[in-house]
Amino acid sequence: MIINKFGGVSIKDTASVQRMAKICSNYILNGVIVVSAMGKMTNMLESLAQAYFAKKETKNIYNQFVEFHTIIIKQLFQDENHEVFKNVDVFFKALKDKLSQAPELNYDFEYDQIVPFGELLATTIVSQYLNLMGQKVIWRDIRKSLKTDHTYRDAKVDWKLSEGLTKTNFNDLENTIYLTQGYIGSDSNNMSTSLGREGSDYTAAILANILNAEKVVVWKDVLGVMCADPQWIPNAPIIPKLSYLDAIELAFFGAKVIHPKTIKPLQNKNIPLQVRSFISTDDEGTIINKFENFDIPPVYIKKEKQVLISIKPFDFSFIVEENLSHIFGILAAHQIKVNLMQNSAISFSIVVDNELGRVDKVIKELKKFYNVKYNELLELITIRHNKPGAEYLVLNGRKILVEQKSRMVARFVVQ
Ligand code: ADP
Ligand code: ASP
Ligand code: MG
Repeated sequence: MIINKFGGVSIKDTASVQRMAKICSNYILNGVIVVSAMGKMTNMLESLAQAYFAKKETKNIYNQFVEFHTIIIKQLFQDENHEVFKNVDVFFKALKDKLSQAPELNYDFEYDQIVPFGELLATTIVSQYLNLMGQKVIWRDIRKSLKTDHTYRDAKVDWKLSEGLTKTNFNDLENTIYLTQGYIGSDSNNMSTSLGREGSDYTAAILANILNAEKVVVWKDVLGVMCADPQWIPNAPIIPKLSYLDAIELAFFGAKVIHPKTIKPLQNKNIPLQVRSFISTDDEGTIINKFENFDIPPVYIKKEKQVLISIKPFDFSFIVEENLSHIFGILAAHQIKVNLMQNSAISFSIVVDNELGRVDKVIKELKKFYNVKYNELLELITIRHNKPGAEYLVLNGRKILVEQKSRMVARFVVQ
């Protein structure tokens, strides 16, 4: 039994949904299909959540969201009385209803009550369309199976609870195709939660782990995992075989083709992950498996919108363990993830993602206890399997602010 996952780009418009349906009928006999929101709908819902929380006008964005889906449904389903119209209406009404109520104080909570509508709409439309095309598919609300804690926008999976519920709700895997949402779950109060942006790959891996799948296939707009994002370095070659170790390191450093949390649930049960193209379907793509770490060409990864924060005690004293523990306490309280760190006698520097609002708050807090300086709009470039000379391809003429090299990995913070 295989878990197949389709991301936003693979269902971004009517023609894409039609192509995705063909892939399903050619390749999928049973198991689970995980689907994320269509195109850029999560970004649109993010703007909606911001407007709602700021008590600004939401009608415009809401209407755009409804219109985007309605146009696609009208093109996919000729019959105006098809039940899909009623199904989506239920979600449009629920979203409208939510927007008509006053927001609570917690932004992350409110965000998670709004963004899941992207996945709920996409899965409703796609599952009805697959059925229309003759493939019998059963829609499941993943929030009834995937339970999490209350860390809204970065929810942690309750594996024990999720295992029991998932096994019950996806119980006839050999004879059925279940279609469900990636990225979302629910907490113990049955409020929606989300697993972090781009989290649908992770959902596929969670389901594969719990349901003991033989493989996970993620269908992407690239040929597989390449030696760099092809949008950055267009002729980067594909890597046909990748170890779990290389895959988790590349994803962690920011190779956006796989969500970093995807690898662990698969590695723990030796489940292979295939990254393949929904455009060039004859190609096998990349297989990530329990391979020994073998020699592969240098892999380039770029993280944009990075902030370099340098922290020094006020009185020229050394940065010692107590300071570090205090600093990390502040970072953890603001859910800030550190991408790179470096220390000297009296200074500690970190590189973090510039996430909406969070970095400003953390800098403000750190300034109460330390001298803090920061540079914004930087890039963090990582080269894994670094070889002599490999860096010239990407560093040419760039100003390097921080440089770190180990046996296999070189990292540069550049302007
Ligand atoms: P999904 O549709 O599943 O959400 P994503 O858009 O998140 O897929 O991931 C696919 C994208 O990842 C590609 O379009 C590509 O630009 C980017 N990418 C970044 N690094 C790599 C890499 N090393 N190999 C292939 N693609 C990469
Ligand atoms: N729709 C979500 C996002 O855009 C999850 C995903 O695509 O994996 O972040
Ligand atoms: Mg994605």
